[in-house]
Amino acid sequence: MTLHSADRNDSTAGKRAVGDDAGGRRVFMSLGSNMGDRRTHLRQGVEMLPGVVAVSPLYETDPVGGPSQEAFLNVAVELRTDLEPTRLLGLCHRIESAAERVREQRWGPRTLDVDIIWMEGIELDTDRLTIPHPRWTQRRFVLAPMRDLAPDLVSESDVRFGEGTVQRLGEL
Ligand code: AMP
Repeated sequence: MTLHSADRNDSTAGKRAVGDDAGGRRVFMSLGSNMGDRRTHLRQGVEMLPGVVAVSPLYETDPVGGPSQEAFLNVAVELRTDLEPTRLLGLCHRIESAAERVREQRWGPRTLDVDIIWMEGIELDTDRLTIPHPRWTQRRFVLAPMRDLAPDLVSESDVRFGEGTVQRLGEL
């Protein structure tokens, strides 16, 4: 397993928290982009996240569901944060807005999609937010990078049974 630490820049280096003693709960996010400069959208999205512990390798993935559209780039990110779920969702929306995401079509092409996948000790199902993410265990584009970061949560067979094709490209 390779963990790509996200301490390449000052904004995440200052917030880096590694190890079990670090404050906050363990959280996993999924980021995806299939419009414009996909890699830059992902990098800028990761920089805006608090308490980044690790960033998965980058994957190119075929769209699952929705209209016919270009391939995505995806990563998973592990955080340690005390942010409450609704605040974290608000941050997801701000990060998406910063990438000038426009919601034209449900599941359509997007500059940046930021989803909360899993939060330690949290189960939640409201109109606006479901945690763990309701579809994450079916999607290989989430499962494969999650397996790189969290083999305790995702097995090889979970990845194999996921829907869609993924190709690991290397570091973000
Ligand atoms: P989408 O347009 O597919 O990115 O859907 C985003 C919407 O799904 C958000 O505005 C949230 O209200 C809702 N949502 C429900 N659960 C989650 C989650 N775990 N992470 C992110 N968004 C979620």
